[in-house]
Amino acid sequence: MRIAVVGAGVCGLTAAHRLTRAGHAVDVYERWPGLGGQAATLDVGDGHRLERYYHHLFTSDTHIADLFAELGMPDAIEWRPSSVAFFACGALHPFVTPLDLLRFGPLSPPARVRMGAAVLALQRFAGDRAPYERITARAWIERRMGRQAWDEVWGPLLRGKFGERADDIAMVWLWSKLRLRRSVKGEDVRQERLGYPRASWEALFGALERSVEAGGGRVLTDTPAARIERAGAGLRVISGVPGSFRSGHDPRRFAPAGDAVYDRVLATVPNDVFAQLLAPALAAEVGEDYLARAASIEYFAALCLLLELDRGFSPYYWTNVADRALPFVGLIEHTNFVEPARYGGRRFLYVANYLPHGHELLQLDAGALLDRYADGLRAVNPAFSRDWVRHAWRFAEPAAQPIVTVGYAARIPPLKTPAAGLVLANTTQVYPEDRGTNYAVRLGAEAAAALTA
Ligand SMILES: Cc1cc2nc3c(=O)[nH]c(=O)nc-3n(C[C@H](O)[C@H](O)[C@H](O)COP(=O)(O)OP(=O)(O)OC[C@H]3O[C@@H](n4cnc5c(N)ncnc54)[C@H](O)[C@@H]3O)c2cc1C
Repeated sequence: MRIAVVGAGVCGLTAAHRLTRAGHAVDVYERWPGLGGQAATLDVGDGHRLERYYHHLFTSDTHIADLFAELGMPDAIEWRPSSVAFFACGALHPFVTPLDLLRFGPLSPPARVRMGAAVLALQRFAGDRAPYERITARAWIERRMGRQAWDEVWGPLLRGKFGERADDIAMVWLWSKLRLRRSVKGEDVRQERLGYPRASWEALFGALERSVEAGGGRVLTDTPAARIERAGAGLRVISGVPGSFRSGHDPRRFAPAGDAVYDRVLATVPNDVFAQLLAPALAAEVGEDYLARAASIEYFAALCLLLELDRGFSPYYWTNVADRALPFVGLIEHTNFVEPARYGGRRFLYVANYLPHGHELLQLDAGALLDRYADGLRAVNPAFSRDWVRHAWRFAEPAAQPIVTVGYAARIPPLKTPAAGLVLANTTQVYPEDRGTNYAVRLGAEAAAALTA
């Protein structure tokens, strides 16, 4: 079959690779001039590539590890010790080993023991996810671990992923995280190890692109889909002119450049972009019910300031910012995870935020954002000065984080849309696990199967 895949993120590229291997002729359309979507990298200079948004893998991320191996890179992922801290009550508190929980000052000693016992019970005995789908994480934690555990630990952790919607997140999301953590064994129980591809995520994108092209397919970057419409039993993809990415995400703004007809189309774009891509008659085929489900899922935007510093900022890789007075939710010091020598001695710190659409911080450029963050950075490290900053890059992703509330499962749009030959696969369908590149790999394979079934 002739198949179009819209989006060259991890999901779209994996699906294209699978479809090519199955003997289909695949064209991948990508709006951005590069590959990788949310996991895309940038050249930070001197040929070093770094993800625009901080990325690592967990030892439970077997789908992506298997894909690296399948593509001839079995040793690509390096596993390194991770170090985590909380910034709370004006100080950094290490949160690396189970013992750190027992020493965690912001919680009273009985609250620490109660929290540890509740986590262990959930990891050991809570095999059925259904009860956790009906309750918010906040309600469950306050009931089982106490108010302090929510205020000092879990609330800040969830705010690091869901911003101000943390209170509404379903417990099933946390249940899945903690149950996956249960599979961690041996040394990793004492200090977790995380994975990072030796040559960044870019190595994966390149290998997937080569696989598609070797099978006769095409990966068309800076070539967005502007519209999809019915063409007999197939579907027509109307592409937009190069440079369309400069006019934003809404494909209705892209001037048409060409078109081609396919037997099947897989869209791996966010739900709102998917709806905007459909010509009216095709939208009617997809139907109000499907589109309403998709539209009912809210996304938060990621706003990330990547700083190159002339020195280390903190001793930790990952700092959860529990102090709500600070205008960001996390600090991820990449070069406390991968050694600076990899980057010619240079050091990189991500300042992370998840925000509702329209938030004023999303309007700021890198310099203005650094101005807004400088006092917060000084609160964590009082010696911090703007003179430490050699470069600053600012990235924003509107559809970064689906908000997983109670009753979420019933709202997930199925992969196969009611329109024949049209499949949708994106992060809103990763459930109950936390969306991530590992699950984008799994979803890409599922989407390829749904498309050809
Ligand atoms: C701040 C942040 C931190 C993260 N940290 C991690 C981490 O540590 N580990 C991890 O594994 N994952 C992490 N993730 C998640 C991970 O990056 C995503 O889950 C994954 O990359 C999603 O892949 P995808 O292909 O489903 O979607 P996307 O990457 O969103 O791909 C969709 C693609 O569609 C393209 N597109 C949009 N419109 C059009 C159009 N009209 N025509 C053609 N193409 C179009 C987009 O440009 C994009 O390339 C993080 C994400 C963010 C935002």
